Amino acid sequence: MHDILIIGGGYAGLWAAFGAARQLDLAGREAEIALVTREPYLTARPRLYERDLAPGEARLPLAPMLQTIGAELVVGEVTGIDAPARRVTLADGRSLTARVIVLAAGSRAALPAIPGLAEHAEGIDDADQSARLWRRLAAFEGKAPAVAVIGGGFTGIELATELAGWRDAKAPGARIVLIDQGPIAAGYAGAARGVIGDALSSLGVRTRAGSAVAAVEAGGLRFADGDRLGCDVAVWTGGLEPSPLNRLIDAPKNAIGRLKVDAALRVDGLDGWLAAGDVAAAGVEGGNSTTMSCQHALSSGAFAGNNAARLLLGEAPLAYTPRPYVTCLDLGPAGALLTRGFEREVAMRGAEAKALKTSINRQLIVPPVEGGRAALLAAAAPERWMTR
Ligand SMILES: Cc1cc2nc3c(=O)[nH]c(=O)nc-3n(C[C@H](O)[C@H](O)[C@H](O)COP(=O)(O)OP(=O)(O)OC[C@H]3O[C@@H](n4cnc5c(N)ncnc54)[C@H](O)[C@@H]3O)c2cc1C
Repeated sequence: MHDILIIGGGYAGLWAAFGAARQLDLAGREAEIALVTREPYLTARPRLYERDLAPGEARLPLAPMLQTIGAELVVGEVTGIDAPARRVTLADGRSLTARVIVLAAGSRAALPAIPGLAEHAEGIDDADQSARLWRRLAAFEGKAPAVAVIGGGFTGIELATELAGWRDAKAPGARIVLIDQGPIAAGYAGAARGVIGDALSSLGVRTRAGSAVAAVEAGGLRFADGDRLGCDVAVWTGGLEPSPLNRLIDAPKNAIGRLKVDAALRVDGLDGWLAAGDVAAAGVEGGNSTTMSCQHALSSGAFAGNNAARLLLGEAPLAYTPRPYVTCLDLGPAGALLTRGFEREVAMRGAEAKALKTSINRQLIVPPVEGGRAALLAAAAPERWMTR
């Protein structure tokens, strides 16, 4: 039996491992921490829209970081969960038990039952998909392809504006269209949505709002109203859903299946379980819930790891009080947009916001491997992530 088991090697899971090791260090205690995850890498998911992402930036090996903090890496696919017994089983038949478990299995692209979607549309949900998309686009360099991005939310906007940069550099005749069944940039309103609209039109990205895609075919899309759009490449960016592992846990969930957690990130009604990142909906400022975002994955992961160790040591857990929510949207050659709060008020735009986005992607969310053990543990200090 492990003392602490973390399920998932994304931002939440890795920061939970740092946090647990940190809290044990502070107490001068040792314990067995294991992190089980499907691949031996941290995938930089928020960067998968970037066209020049080096393979070494898209995937960071977990083993050296976990070794540095004294945690075990178990590579495997969790397929079964006996929550009351705190036992998980892996696809290869192994099983793991622990005194405290942090569920941080994240999210994946939600794929609705649209005929042809899985077969014909590309995605940017993992590093392989992203690499395949950009390889496929490379074959169109110097040509005039039509590229359809289906899903006009955060990810679709970042990809469509990045594609505009690619078009200008590599395929000047390319046509890029951003499609949504509802409005484009539905998560934004007022001035922020205006900034996004201006960026899309200045970059020549065509938009098609209120257009539900009913089928994806080899050479195009069919819409619910019977209209057809020819395209050479279609990419699905239609939203995320929490890990299906949540369905194996009999505990309260919100409307999209994220686990409800208390102020200390403990799963409601389940002894010895915490949850962090995209799998969990934790209460934050103003009666809101955490978003499926890096800001909340990193901060809740750090808190959950610290709290896992505190529970193990019989200490009172810390209340999760992350800094006020902000979000920074890349707009390709048109810069970026920083918004504050859940109402997403415009806080910064253009080149200044782009510099911030670059530093978020290349520094803030990158584990400080070079700094060794002290830096990795300090990365999960709750005060780094909490309201000051
Ligand atoms: C293209 C894209 C762009 C994004 N852009 C932004 C952005 O600009 N800003 C922002 O804040 N957020 C962005 N996000 C969201 C952000 O990436 C997520 O909120 C964040 O990655 C969540 O971290 P996590 O650790 O909870 O989950 P994940 O990153 O999903 O990590 C989950 C981990 O668990 C592992 N796992 C899952 N199931 C199992 C299993 N059954 N067995 C074993 N291991 C398992 C996975 O392999 C993975 O390692 C973006 C996401 C995508 C896909």
